This record gives sequence, C-alpha cells and structure tokens, in this order.
Amino acid sequence: MIPYGRQEVTEADIRAVEAVLRSDFLTQGPAVPHFERVVARTVGARHAVAMNSATSALHAACAALGVESGDLVWTSPITFVATANCARYCGAEVDWVDIDPETYNLSPIALEQKLITAAAGGRLPKVVIPVHLAGQSCDMQRIHALGARFGFRIIEDASHAIGGSYAGKAVGSCEFSDITVFSFHPVKIITTGEGGMALTNDDALAERMALLRVHGITRDPERMTSDQPDGPWYYEQTTLGYNYRMTDIQAALGISQMARLAGYVEQRNAIADRYDEAFDDLPLTTPHVDGLCTSAFHLYVIRIQTPDAARHRALFERLRDAGIGVNLHYIPVYRQPDFVRQCGPHPGLPEAEAYYASAISLPMFPTLSEEDLAEVVRVVRREMGKE
Ligand SMILES: *Cc1c(COP(=O)(O)O)cnc(C)c1O
Repeated sequence: MIPYGRQEVTEADIRAVEAVLRSDFLTQGPAVPHFERVVARTVGARHAVAMNSATSALHAACAALGVESGDLVWTSPITFVATANCARYCGAEVDWVDIDPETYNLSPIALEQKLITAAAGGRLPKVVIPVHLAGQSCDMQRIHALGARFGFRIIEDASHAIGGSYAGKAVGSCEFSDITVFSFHPVKIITTGEGGMALTNDDALAERMALLRVHGITRDPERMTSDQPDGPWYYEQTTLGYNYRMTDIQAALGISQMARLAGYVEQRNAIADRYDEAFDDLPLTTPHVDGLCTSAFHLYVIRIQTPDAARHRALFERLRDAGIGVNLHYIPVYRQPDFVRQCGPHPGLPEAEAYYASAISLPMFPTLSEEDLAEVVRVVRREMGKE
C-alpha cells in the first residue's frame, strides 16, 4: 500500500538524536530552547513554546487566552478532533462555522454571518480557531478584521501548514492571530515523533503557556506569591498546569528536520503540480491555491464533482483495493458520537457535508517515488474511466 503520508528520517537526524542520547539531558536540556529559537526565527514570531503534541499546545493556547466554562469557541468542522477538544478541555462549548467551497477552510463569509446572528442573540465566541487545511492558510486578514469587530481572540491551527506562507509572511508569524500551533506528528511536514509548538508575539501569552507546560510551577522569585521563600529549594505551583514538555530527544530530531523544511515544501508543491496536470481532463476538483498563499501541501485532496455518497465510497474502496492508501480528512467533527452526546445532534453544515461526500486525500509526501506517483495517477485515471 502506498501510504497517504510518511516521514523521512535521514542519517543526519539519527546522529542528532544519538548525540542527545549520549548527553547529560534527555529532557529539560538545551535542545528544546534551541529548537524553539530555530522555529521562531524561521517563521518570524517572537516566542515559541515547544510541547509534547499540537493537542497539548492547542489546550495551553486556549487556557492562556482564558477560555473557561461558560465560554464559546468556534472552529471549522473539517478538521481533526483535537482542534475542538482543546476548548472542551477548558470546559468551553464548541460551535461550528461552515467551510469555503473552494479552499475548504473556515469561510470568512459564513463566519461574519454567524457573528452577526450571535451578536443579536448575545452569545459571541471568546476564541475562533481557523484551521489551515491541507497546508493552505485561511483568509487571516478577514478573520482578524472580524476579531477586532466582534471581540474574539484567534488561535491558528497550523498543524498542516509549517513552511507555508500567507500575504508574504510565513505561517506562524502570528501577524493576524494571537497564537499559532504546529504539529510534528510523523505524517505532518516535519516530525519529532510526537510534538507540537505554540508561536506568539505576545510576551504574557508565551509566559503563560510555558508555565502551563510545567505543572504551573515557577522557580522565579519574582513570580512567586511568597516574598519569603523557605529556602533555595523552594518553588511554587502558581496555577494548575500539566506535564506538556517536549523531550530533548524529540527537539534534536526537530532541529535536524527543520534544515529540510523549505525543500520539503518545494517537493510537496512539485507533486501537487504533477497531480494537477495528470487529472486536468478528469471530472475531479483538484486543490485550489489562493493567490495570497503558498500551501505547505500536507494533503492533496481531490473531490468528485457531484457529491454522491455511494460513488464517493466506491471510488475510495477501489483506490484502497488497488494499493493506494487514500484517506478522508476529515469526518465533520460535529458527527462524532462524543460530540453528539455533549452538544446534541447537529443538522449539518451544507459545504462541510458536500465536502465529506466527495473528498479523498491522495498519497502526498516528499519521498513519494516517481514510480509510486505514476501508479497513483494511473489508478486514479483508470477508476475515473480514462485509459
Ligand atoms: C495532527 C493535527 C492535530 C493534532 O496534532 P498532534 O501533534 O497529533 O496532537 C491538530 N489539528 C490538526 C488539524 C491536525 O491535523
């Protein structure tokens, strides 16, 4: 089976990890702050806080923004469940904004309409989490302008999008948001095995997320409530935090992988170009890249042109049967039984449902071989009745 995504681990990566294993620090050593500096510098953000997953980083981001019970967080239903769960960890409720029919990202038009209705009803979101689906940024200028008008904060879920750009700036610069989160799970653009990172330009948010990462514990006398520490061993838990630390083993892998980030994004874009060309004459919708964006192309999503659940499923099954490891990113999250239990049944959002009835993710990763790419193209064309 040709997988839909796969990591690349080089000899240089292995040597970098080995060096940490032979060093004094497996965790809480120098590699984590080094990795944070590399990513922050690359994307042009003031602060980076590495964590053990993007899920942890999303949770810490919500908590740092003060999301709590009684609050509302809005996001796109076409995402991984973690984007919504982070709000629920804080006791908040989640609600859904429909997607744009071209980019499949959270639609600023749907967002504005929903905000106007919500403003009249008196219950606006505290935080909106746009998701940069498949590696392409959402329309952040418009979402940011709505944030200023309606008073919500913004967390970008850029789990797919490190290495991408929007309006001439790297995704992660937080030009139009409070916090941006990256994932380093092995199927994503670069990997640390498991891992994530929160980027921000706000000193107080960075400090708050760093505190939440280490149990809410500080050793800095300036930040303690007591002005009379018991002794040099003294530390204080000043808030309820978590153990969300990334290890130095993971960070060393991340630093080594970062050296190939730009190359990876180029290779992913080259594969997307090849697919675009090969499917040009088929009744399929290939990804639309917005003029303001360079996509990191975490995913290459095709859509059958008339949403039809039976045809969609049959194509998916035939591709799997032919050894093409296709996937569907994602099931609208409001359909998940645990969300139905918590939030009640959802009537469905029209664009999200149409997407779910037509989307298929094809294999997309930098080390996809020439032969495997040709095989994916051959099978897709055959199944669409060409050749
Ligand atoms: C992968 C992913 C996450 C979670 O990332 P982890 O690092 O596995 O916790 C969150 N949101 C989206 C959109 C993702 O694709």
